[in-house]
Amino acid sequence: MIGVINDKCDFCGCCVAVCPVDSIDLYEARIEIKSHCIDCMLCVWICPVETLASMDEKGRLLPREEAEARVGAVA
Ligand code: SF4
Ligand code: SF4
Repeated sequence: MIGVINDKCDFCGCCVAVCPVDSIDLYEARIEIKSHCIDCMLCVWICPVETLASMDEKGRLLPREEAEARVGAVA
């Protein structure tokens, strides 16, 4: 599960472009992660301002290093 963890988003659209399953909606002043996200973490990895993070089932944020490791494993 991916969460929006702060208000740093500058709406660059990188996360939307990289998502392989079209699971991110970008509105004028917010982004929304849709339920069919497959937790690939590409969006976490590419976000230049660390606005997105993966969360476990209890809503705890997982370290960014995990996103980088997972993306590296599939690249
Ligand atoms: S990549 Fe980051 S800064 Fe850009 S739109 Fe997505 S969440 Fe916002
Ligand atoms: S984790 Fe992957 S599937 Fe989920 S919103 Fe981010 S890029 Fe899309």
